[in-house]
Amino acid sequence: MMGGIDVILFDLDNTLYHPASGLLEAGDETITRFISERLNIPWERANEMRVRTWREYGATARGLEIECGIPQRQFFAGSIEQVCVEEYIRPHPELRAMLQSLPQRLYVFTNAPCVYAARTLQALGIADLISGVFDIETTGGLPKPECGCYDQVLEAMGVPAGRIALLEDTEANLTPAAARGMVTIKVGPPPPTDHHLYLEDLLDLPKLLSAHA
Ligand SMILES: [Mg+2]
Repeated sequence: MMGGIDVILFDLDNTLYHPASGLLEAGDETITRFISERLNIPWERANEMRVRTWREYGATARGLEIECGIPQRQFFAGSIEQVCVEEYIRPHPELRAMLQSLPQRLYVFTNAPCVYAARTLQALGIADLISGVFDIETTGGLPKPECGCYDQVLEAMGVPAGRIALLEDTEANLTPAAARGMVTIKVGPPPPTDHHLYLEDLLDLPKLLSAHA
């Protein structure tokens, strides 16, 4: 069933790099600080708002835009673009070799902004292997799991959904992709609760692809 995969879409955060790197937490801290200062509310409440808007809207940037009228560009510049990505992410030769072995075209599909995504791919040492990045700014501020951004990506690819695989650590972001006929792969524990393929370790992707070819 997966023999006909032409394109692989990778989520970025906690998918292309390991959660243990600490990069996501570092980014979350800058987001909480931004909310706390911008809305003049205590850290605890700002942190709750970060988590709630992430759950409700798929991305805190989207939630703050809708609920508080904060432009996403302003939000990103004042939060995660302040993180020194290179402090957390080092070149990953095994990841690079694995990606290089894949015959498919490789893209990134992320709720993060463009500059941060480019920096992270550079820090991992894999930027040159990625054919393109669909970030939240190229999708007009629409994050996963909003249906509109999956349709935009499908249109831009011009490849039937069944020939595209999406890899994600956040299961909720796989659901709209599966509904459109993409092959969906949950990366990292816990295993998916729904009918997605499961990859405990991203480095085992070639094995999973050949097992399903
Ligand atoms: Mg992720």
